[in-house]
Parts: sequence; structure tokens; C-alpha cells
Amino acid sequence: MHDGNPYQTLYKLSRALYQDIHDRDKLLHTILKQTACLIEAPYGCLFAFGQDQDIQAVHTFDAIDFDTEGWRILVEQGMVGFVYYGQRLLIIRDVGTDPRWMPLSVLPTEGAAIGIPLFYGSRVVAVMILMHDTPDYFDHHHISLLEEISGLARDAICASYDEEEAEIEQLRRDLSAMIYHDMRGPLQSIRGSIQKLAEVLANHENPLVLTMLQIGIRSTRQLRVMLDSLLDIQRLEAGQAILRNSPTELRVLLADAIQLVQPLAIDANQRLKFEWDNNLPMVDVDNDMILRVIINLMENAIKYTPEGGIITLGAYPLTDERICVTVKDSGPGIPRHMKDRIFDKFSRVRYRNAPQGLGLGLAFCRLAVDAHGGDIWVESEAGDGAMFCFTLPICLTESDDITLLATTA
Ligand code: ADP
Repeated sequence: MHDGNPYQTLYKLSRALYQDIHDRDKLLHTILKQTACLIEAPYGCLFAFGQDQDIQAVHTFDAIDFDTEGWRILVEQGMVGFVYYGQRLLIIRDVGTDPRWMPLSVLPTEGAAIGIPLFYGSRVVAVMILMHDTPDYFDHHHISLLEEISGLARDAICASYDEEEAEIEQLRRDLSAMIYHDMRGPLQSIRGSIQKLAEVLANHENPLVLTMLQIGIRSTRQLRVMLDSLLDIQRLEAGQAILRNSPTELRVLLADAIQLVQPLAIDANQRLKFEWDNNLPMVDVDNDMILRVIINLMENAIKYTPEGGIITLGAYPLTDERICVTVKDSGPGIPRHMKDRIFDKFSRVRYRNAPQGLGLGLAFCRLAVDAHGGDIWVESEAGDGAMFCFTLPICLTESDDITLLATTA
């Protein structure tokens, strides 16, 4: 067996494997070659399996040249199948007498063989078989070395799959971001055209025409908000900084939000109430993003509260550095078990006759508030309305900055 410091040998092997994690075929081949070299086995082969237990590739070296029929027999009746399905190491001391050794013309007919499964998590993704011309060649030293190698191989295979999954995920994100982005153009044209039509037909004798056009305008706006949320969620999830923080009058943001959602509240025959002091501190936020958070919460409150309800928008300083914004409604509330989950993408509470939605708004709100270093949560007793709360950083004035510097110095 290979002489020298075993730790150094394994360290070198680990480095060699990590160099190949970007190319799974190459990685498996390296595992086979390096292992055979370490345990001085003159023949070896490695069977790589796919998700559906199908053989995806066979790596061999030294005079072994399987055809597809040979692969199949080895998996169905031979040693490869025993290791794959048994999920553990197997030694055949004498291939000449053991029925698990298949008499394939390409395989040696004398000597010993050892097979080990290679894992990705708990799934066997490959089976490696190593052979030697001497019967009983493999002993407990080989076994413990192979167990170490199997651990290293598992880590490298895992890194390789993770990398592949991350790449696929990135591709999926890029593709959907492109689609969301490109859909905004035609949508804008549809909205513009309907708006124009509404202007031209403003005095149409049939009032239904204008109502229909208004529905069209509202729906295209909803679609646009949805696309923007999807794009923002993707960017925020990818950790891309899209914050353009600036000192902002929170009062102005709250007033803007109210102005934008008031028509919806009027339509739903709901009363809007406001609760904040005139001397609210400035906040350090990305205006657009936080305005959209407030609007999202207000629109939800209006959407999920029955006609005639009350929606209260409030804000109060929580500490010297944080301010809390609240949106309270008199709707059905959020069941206890859903309080955290509703902030996950596509998560919705199943109320009877609930308005339609996608479950993206609150996911966006959480990511946006997170990106400002704040917290968002909901307080609610079922049937007694919901109060969504989130915190924002108060903008430190110059004198505060100086005090802070002085205390930290
Ligand atoms: P959407 O409203 O498009 O479904 P959201 O992410 O904004 O997506 O909300 C997720 C879910 O949380 C909603 O489907 C609804 O079940 C619940 N929800 C949100 N806001 C309220 C609210 N104010 N009152 C009751 N349920 C709410």
C-alpha cells in the first residue's frame, strides 16, 4: 500500500478532488484513479448513477472495456448491484469462486475485488470497484483507507452537486428576471392604450364601457406591482444592494401612502385612521421601497377587511434608533400558526371567500425591511383583526453622529 504520512496523502487527495468539482465526470474519474493508485489496485471501474437508478457513465482504466450489456449484468446480478442497493462496502476475497463476481470476459478471473458506494447525502450516486490479481489482497488497512477516501469523496461530490444546483438556480433566476423585466414593456403599452381609450370614450353613452376600461387599468396596475415585487424579491434574495438610502420625512411617506390607497378604502366603504405625533423623527431609508412596503400592508388591510371596517396607520419611536410603523385592521386576523409563515413567498391563509392573491406582497415587505436592518411581524388574535408592525432606522442627526462617535471613541 502507499507509504508515507496517511494524513498528507489524504490531504493531497482532497485537494485533487476539489480541483475537479466543477466537472462531475472528471471528479468521479479522479476519485477512481487516485483511489486505485493509493491502494495499488491495477484495475478499477466506477459506475455513476442518475436519479432514476439508471447508469449515466462508466469510468474504467487499464484494459477494462465494458459494453452496455456488461454494465447491465453487473448492476442487475453482480457486485455493482450488491454495493449499490446494499449501500455499503463489499469485499470479494476470491473472484474465481464467488458467484457475485460476474464472469465477464473484460474482467479479471482471478484475484480479489472491493466495492464502495459513493454518496451525495443519503443517495448512492456511484459505485467504485477496485480489483487485484491476488486473492485475499484487501485487508483492514485497505478498508479503513477506503472509508477515509469515501468521506472525502462524499464531501467533494456534495460540493459538486451544490455548485451545479447553485448554477441551475442562478440560471432560473436570471431567466425569470429577464421575463419579468421584459413583460413590463408590453404591459405598459396595454395600460397606456386603455388609458387613452378611457379618455377618448370619457363621454360614452354606455357607462359600462368606462367601467370596463377602469377595470382594465386597475388590473394592469396590479400586474405591474406584481412584476415589480417579483423582480425586487429576486434582487433582494440574491443579496443585491438596491437600497438608495436617504434621510426621509416618515410623515411624508405615510401621507403619500394614504393618498395612494384612499380610493381603494373608499370603494370598500372603509374608514382610514392615522395615529402619529407631528414631530416624528426622520428615517434613513430607500423611499420607494419603504413606500411600497406601507402600501402593500395598507392594501392587504383593505383587501382582507370586510366592508365598513377600520384601517389604522400608525408610527411611534420604539427606541432612540428605531421607529415602528403599524398597520392595523378590523378584518379576520391571522391564525397563530400562520403568523411567521405568511411572510414566506406564495404563502396564503385559506379564508372562505378570500380575495385572490399570489402571496408575494408580504415576502417583498420582509425582504425590504430586512434590507434596512429592521424587523417585521404581525400581532393578531384570530377574528380580532391584524396589526402588521415593522421597524426602521431613525436618521441620526449630525449632533447624534458626533455624540455616537464620542461615546464609541
Ligand atoms: P397576497 O395578498 O397577494 O395573497 P401577501 O403576501 O400580501 O399576498 O399576503 C399573504 C397572505 O397573508 C394573504 O394571502 C392573506 O391570506 C394573509 N394576509 C395578509 N394581510 C392580511 C390582513 N391584513 N388580514 C388578513 N390576512 C392577511
